[in-house]
Amino acid sequence: MNSGDVDFIVRNARIYTVDPGFGVADGMAVTGGRIVAVGDSGGIGARFRAARELDAGGACIYPGFIDPHSHFLLYGLTLRMVDLVGSRSWEEVIGRVQDQQRADPSPWAVGRGWDNNLWPSPEFPSREKLDAAFPDLPVLLVRIDGHAAVANAAALALAGVDADTRVAGGEVLRKAQSPTGVLIDKAIDLVKNVIPKPDRHARQQALLRAQANCLAVGLTTVSDAGTDLEDALLMDSMHRTGQLQVRIYTMLRDSDANLGDFLAKGPYLTDRLSIRSIKVFADGALGSRGALLLEPYADDPANLGLQVTPTARFEEICRRAAAAGYQVNAHCIGDAAVRLALDIYGKFQEPGQDRRWRIEHAQVVDPRDLPKFGRFRVIPSVQSTHATSDMKWAAKALGTRTKNAYCFQELLQQNGWLPNGSDFPVESINPVLGFYAAVARKDLGGQPEGGFQMENALTREQALRSMTIWAARASFDEANRGSLEIGKWADFVMLDRDLMRVPEPELPAAKVIRTFIAGAAVYGS
Ligand SMILES: [Zn+2]
Repeated sequence: MNSGDVDFIVRNARIYTVDPGFGVADGMAVTGGRIVAVGDSGGIGARFRAARELDAGGACIYPGFIDPHSHFLLYGLTLRMVDLVGSRSWEEVIGRVQDQQRADPSPWAVGRGWDNNLWPSPEFPSREKLDAAFPDLPVLLVRIDGHAAVANAAALALAGVDADTRVAGGEVLRKAQSPTGVLIDKAIDLVKNVIPKPDRHARQQALLRAQANCLAVGLTTVSDAGTDLEDALLMDSMHRTGQLQVRIYTMLRDSDANLGDFLAKGPYLTDRLSIRSIKVFADGALGSRGALLLEPYADDPANLGLQVTPTARFEEICRRAAAAGYQVNAHCIGDAAVRLALDIYGKFQEPGQDRRWRIEHAQVVDPRDLPKFGRFRVIPSVQSTHATSDMKWAAKALGTRTKNAYCFQELLQQNGWLPNGSDFPVESINPVLGFYAAVARKDLGGQPEGGFQMENALTREQALRSMTIWAARASFDEANRGSLEIGKWADFVMLDRDLMRVPEPELPAAKVIRTFIAGAAVYGS
């Protein structure tokens, strides 16, 4: 007997529903963008009359991937910047900027993605060669992690940065009473602030470019970890016109302009956009030695890193977020930053409350602090590819503390769940690479052979949950997405291989065949 007409039925699939029992189905019925049945396709075919049928040809289907910590707009903008990722020397970095300026001259040269850990001599570069190559054109080249940058003399002059410049939460590196050009954390903003902001049209184009690439790798929800209110509202308007389909979870930057009157009105939520959290930087990053540590760096005994947001300001943001029903998502890399955030969050815990305040990255955690995640119900929001990108050099910075870093399984155990993202464009946007890094803890060359600190690997089921249902839960969206269950949005992705069963070396090559959001095909034919 028919129980009704539906828009379409999926059959002949291996559907990982990621429901509480991790059930597998072979059919699904969708109407009005939502799932109305999932299970045995024979039974579904008998119950529903469908306008269309989708034969998956035996392919695997998963809930649409959710990246709980990424930089969606920035990624779109970086697609237009000079791409410095993978450059093998400072000379190659400068050469890439010269090539781009020859091909497409612009009044500011902005590049992103250099990583001195990949160079023959991994010390920070300085601006002499950059000044020689670009005596007049202002240039700003941001490190892969976004926490260090090199500016040339022309850019420093426009920003008014000189040997006397001091900045809270950042540093202007100097040699012989003169800036070397290297700027750390908040000091980068001095230069960034004088670069003309891309206009609305350029930002729209960046969002569209970013969306096309994200849908092609199966992401149906992304995040924007550090959004200005005007950009969040731009995303909202592009959702309304249908230009943007991808769902976006924003984290508002903690500027007064963003928080002002808007915060007091409470969370702003649509089907596709969520504005309900504030991003705070507790510290910098490990690669630029700006992560705040309890004990000095192993290779820099005078350096404890940087506290980027003063404690009083951090607490004020927490107070305002608590009053407005917002999450606080604090960037914490070093063990001292993690402790600072946990202890502040702890002051705001009240029985029965479900704030889901988050620690983004939680990269180095003193073992004594681990239980506070469970006690205060703080959500560690991790990136498994950071472990496999950093594993080659982390010990230089951390020494024996490396064993306290990237401890994803231990963090998972604190609350019983764990969101896992990519931090793109710091890492690749491809969620399959995050899945592989979480379970294998190896680089793409299969190294190290036994995996890196394997006691903190995730199982395949945990890894899939971390980028679907647990990622949804980290943004209060688990009732609407993150699994393929009746009543939820039909956000799903079809892959050419079975992430649960293929041999581990094959995982990174998994390709997306089709991506659906709310039952609409948004990628693939
Ligand atoms: Zn980030």
